[in-house]
Amino acid sequence: MEDMFRFADELGPFKIIHVYEPSVSLKAVLVVDNVARGPALGGIRIAPDVSVEECFRLARSMTLKNAAADLPHGGGKMVIYGDPKMPQEKKNQLLRTLACALRNDEEYIFAPDMGTDEACMACIRDEITRVVGLPCELGGIPLDEIGATGWGVLHATEVALQYCDFELEGARVVIQGFGAVGKNTARFLAERGAIIVGVSDSRGTVRSPEGLDVKALLSLKKAGKSVIDYPDGEKLDRNAVIDIPCEIWIPAARPDVINEENMGRLNTKLIVEGANIPITAGAEKALYEKGVLYVPDFIANAGGVICAASEYRGSTRCAALEAIEEKVRNNTKTVLEDAKNRDILPREAAVDLALKRIKRAVNYP
Ligand code: NAD
Repeated sequence: MEDMFRFADELGPFKIIHVYEPSVSLKAVLVVDNVARGPALGGIRIAPDVSVEECFRLARSMTLKNAAADLPHGGGKMVIYGDPKMPQEKKNQLLRTLACALRNDEEYIFAPDMGTDEACMACIRDEITRVVGLPCELGGIPLDEIGATGWGVLHATEVALQYCDFELEGARVVIQGFGAVGKNTARFLAERGAIIVGVSDSRGTVRSPEGLDVKALLSLKKAGKSVIDYPDGEKLDRNAVIDIPCEIWIPAARPDVINEENMGRLNTKLIVEGANIPITAGAEKALYEKGVLYVPDFIANAGGVICAASEYRGSTRCAALEAIEEKVRNNTKTVLEDAKNRDILPREAAVDLALKRIKRAVNYP
């Protein structure tokens, strides 16, 4: 009994629900972490090997992200055990079964994550109404298409620059990962005069000190190619993206890409964390103490969830983008100011901000 509660603390988790339906080979786990601010928002991931504890950690990071963004939502996460590349028909069958099983668990709002997309959410919508990330035809806001998270990363960058000794216009930017987050971030930053001098994807890195043509890179990705198919520039191994000198370095790919072993290779002044937990805690601290400013992940990359929460309330795309701009700018300012004034790490300031907002909600009768 004791063991089951080994990761519980004063915030949660509120509920852990295991769903098992042998007739369709469905095995899933839902963690609803904390609902003081409202029903939990957090995606459904299809993966073969996520432990309950990992699911809880993902749910907890949503609790902090949603609270920091001042959304009326707690955090949750759901994992369906299976191959994320299974046929859509099989996914639909599992998702329908899951939606029916959790029909009455009103503390959780279904949303997409790795292995699920808007078609999956449409299928859930057939069964229940507590779902976001829907196709436009069903009232959804296509957050990856409009670049919701990249839009937030742009605004976090602009505010962070108030604490740096250079401007966006003419600043050299390097982006690791050129998917939904990375390519939209590149687009928005280039539109404001930044020079994208290096980008990578899972196949490699392309570098050009004179600047890469972002439109050409976007066309390559649209055609299903890699950034290394870019006609000019220097082609390098994907990990070489860490070595490219720049003023702004943006991780937008995988967790833990910067750690104590490789952090010395970074030659940058500002890191804006587009990806989730891209830098280990030790490396983040050491870099900050060396004078590299960073905006923590759940402050910088909250655009996606702010967009999803806006969709849930029937907002338009324009209103969602405005909400992202306002919230990400305010939060970045609050966190960096607090870190400076109290001489603490930006991550500590970000966690404090989120906890304060959760505790205020808990204290309402
Ligand atoms: P995506 O799948 O659209 O793109 C990921 C990109 O990273 C791809 O270009 C892929 O080729 C590249 N990549 C994978 N492994 C790599 C490696 N080792 N080196 C370099 N590039 C690599 O994913 P996304 O939606 O852009 O998400 C990226 C990150 O941002 C993830 O950590 C995700 O959790 C986080 N995030 C995404 C959103 C969102 O709105 N999509 C919101 C918040 C956080």
